[in-house]
Amino acid sequence: MCDNGSDGGVSRGVSRGRGRGRGRGRGQGRGRGRGRGMCNTRQNMDDNIEQINMTLKSTDVCGDVEIPEICMLAINNKCINNNKGCQYLHAKSTFHWQFQVGIKWFNFLIFQSKVLETAYRNVAKDKCQILPPIDLNKSASCAKAILNFFGTESWTANFMRMYIKHSTGSKLQIRRISTKSAGESDNPKATTYDWYFLDAQGIWICYGHADSLGNEKLVCSTTCEDIEKRYLSDPRSSMTVSNKRFTYILNFAQMTQTNLTTNKVRQIRRRPSKAPIQKKVILDKPKNCLPTHWSPMTDKQICLLVQLDCDSSEYQNVKSLLKLTLHGVIIRNIQRLQNPYLWHQLENKKAYLSKSYDKNQLNMQKLFHGVNSSTIDTICNENIDWRQGTTIRQDFGKGSYFSNSAAVARGHCTHTVNGHFTLILAEVIVGMVVQGSPSLTRPPARSSSTLYDTTVDNVNDPVIFVKYDKEEYYPEYIINLRETFFNLN
Ligand SMILES: [Zn+2]
Repeated sequence: MCDNGSDGGVSRGVSRGRGRGRGRGRGQGRGRGRGRGMCNTRQNMDDNIEQINMTLKSTDVCGDVEIPEICMLAINNKCINNNKGCQYLHAKSTFHWQFQVGIKWFNFLIFQSKVLETAYRNVAKDKCQILPPIDLNKSASCAKAILNFFGTESWTANFMRMYIKHSTGSKLQIRRISTKSAGESDNPKATTYDWYFLDAQGIWICYGHADSLGNEKLVCSTTCEDIEKRYLSDPRSSMTVSNKRFTYILNFAQMTQTNLTTNKVRQIRRRPSKAPIQKKVILDKPKNCLPTHWSPMTDKQICLLVQLDCDSSEYQNVKSLLKLTLHGVIIRNIQRLQNPYLWHQLENKKAYLSKSYDKNQLNMQKLFHGVNSSTIDTICNENIDWRQGTTIRQDFGKGSYFSNSAAVARGHCTHTVNGHFTLILAEVIVGMVVQGSPSLTRPPARSSSTLYDTTVDNVNDPVIFVKYDKEEYYPEYIINLRETFFNLN
């Protein structure tokens, strides 16, 4: 808690830029729940409330707004009361979480609020951990105030009773404030709520959907929207809903659903719908870690096939690998597949395995894969998948087959009537290998917690490699060939 005795941050955070009071003080409330070490901080928080006369923001320490809602106009910077003092909380998002000290409400930091919100939008969650601020340099006095108050250990939030609890047993009430419900406002910034019941399998089911066994007769004819409207009209009331077999009473005060035929009582929950809280972080973005020799791509392109120039070293390298074992074919063309998404999957897996493997153990190899030409488009978009178009015998496990011999991979291809066929040269994480067998659907265990990475035909001198995880190979080159009596040259 605030054993370090510093509470200056709170004073600064609350009083900064604020002038005369406007008589909002509603008593001190200091008698209740004064915890160990909290007193200085609390007193400062209370004293400074008196000075507030301007609009409160979610980034301020104090959040004791007159109307515990987010100002929908402020989200778009259109609140005309901004300078006079808006009764609502101003925030950049449609929600914010607060905690109560005495009778006053204070704002969680933005990142804490997002952690709480993310958990809360998952209907199955009753609890979540909230962490204290980490980087004090960046987050100024507000974070310091919260750190003084919360200490450096995490607290557990309980959504059923709406409090946070510290390992020492200290508890504080919390609340979620948000924009008006979509049940009472057409504003696009209004918050949509979904209603759920806990089904017989212990899964939360949204009203209007089939339960986890897919029983269509039990789909409720009442929508979440109807339930929400009724709830808003009186949160202590109840309402009747039904499906093809039963009628139920929803009791909003108890948050229960009672089957009028069987008297079975189930829990119900109201949670904000699961729309994304913020723009998704796109992991594929860092283009600079794509291979430097790749041709430029637009943001909209999922993948690009680039035909290699016969004189390029890239072409010659692929050709020399083919020539090691493959004779009697003509190379029609070689295309480089550029699929950033698949490439990053491989890179991520390499990075993951590199935590426990050194470079030799990672055992990266360029291996051939024989394909059915009709599956090339799918491979370019979604990678090689053994479940699609595999006609070969899977003697060493049920997975994708690769070979260090182009001639062996040729045996896995489907040929057209005019002798055309396609090989793929893939970049493969071979890792730790083990002898394969036909019944395997994944590699055998290497230890109590890890599996081998690849099964092979012969561990001493493998020619065939079976992969079970699509993240462990990348189809780098598409090689179109034609059978002939002539050697490659
Ligand atoms: Zn406002």
